[in-house]
Amino acid sequence: MFDVPVSLSPSRVEAFTSCPMAFRFASIEKLPEPPGIHMTRGSLVHRALELFFMSPAADRTAARLHTALEAALVEYHTDPEFTGLALGPDEITEFERECHELIGNYLRMEDPTAVREIGLELHLSAQVDTLTLRGIIDRLELDSDGELVVTDYKTGRAPSEHYEQKSLAGVHFYSFLCERVFGRRPRAIRLMYLRSGETITATPSEQSVKFITTRTQAVWKAVERACQTGDFRPRPGPLCSGCAFQEWCPAFGGDPERAAVEATARYALLAPA
Ligand code: SF4
Repeated sequence: MFDVPVSLSPSRVEAFTSCPMAFRFASIEKLPEPPGIHMTRGSLVHRALELFFMSPAADRTAARLHTALEAALVEYHTDPEFTGLALGPDEITEFERECHELIGNYLRMEDPTAVREIGLELHLSAQVDTLTLRGIIDRLELDSDGELVVTDYKTGRAPSEHYEQKSLAGVHFYSFLCERVFGRRPRAIRLMYLRSGETITATPSEQSVKFITTRTQAVWKAVERACQTGDFRPRPGPLCSGCAFQEWCPAFGGDPERAAVEATARYALLAPA
């Protein structure tokens, strides 16, 4: 009924497990979505940190980071991910203030002059059977012993203890990719929550790698089944309030078959390329 995807990323795995119906709209039908302010703020801060880490270690000062953020803001000025938000002057001021606050928090979390990065926004992929697993690592670095460390910046809230393991699943996925691509398992994976200033660190193990491979393969089988049967169930939950496809969701009385035409007509011009 639908073409089966040939690749999966950690965010797609999470998207399918959170709501198969939303996954169908976004990842199978690839319908456009309007940009969201949290997403845009996150991308912009990631870009600022990427620009910042292109500077030599000794030059990584607070002033340099705020300059990197200004450069990222200029880049985003004409980007549909930003223009599509249609923010007014006061909202733009608030948006920029929040971006500066997040990178200010970052500077209290680690000493950037001590970071030995070897990759920024690193695109990795590896084959598992017929499936290609893909991921983008925010920062890959070496620790003082020359071991690999994966760092992922987060601009949303830190998870409660209950959800901590779930949020680490994505970085375990990156660790798995590193092992496949570089032949070395990272010593640590870190999630840096720039809003709260917390860092969650995990140590990848044989068990975590096995868990990721088994879970990803199970999700892929479920995606494959859903594509063949057309049965993508809605899973109402906290994500519904921000879901761009609610109007076409059967859980809210909508008709998913109308989404392709109607969402494309409504969102095409607003969505990022
Ligand atoms: S509205 Fe909720 S249940 Fe429906 S597709 Fe969106 S996230 Fe899923």
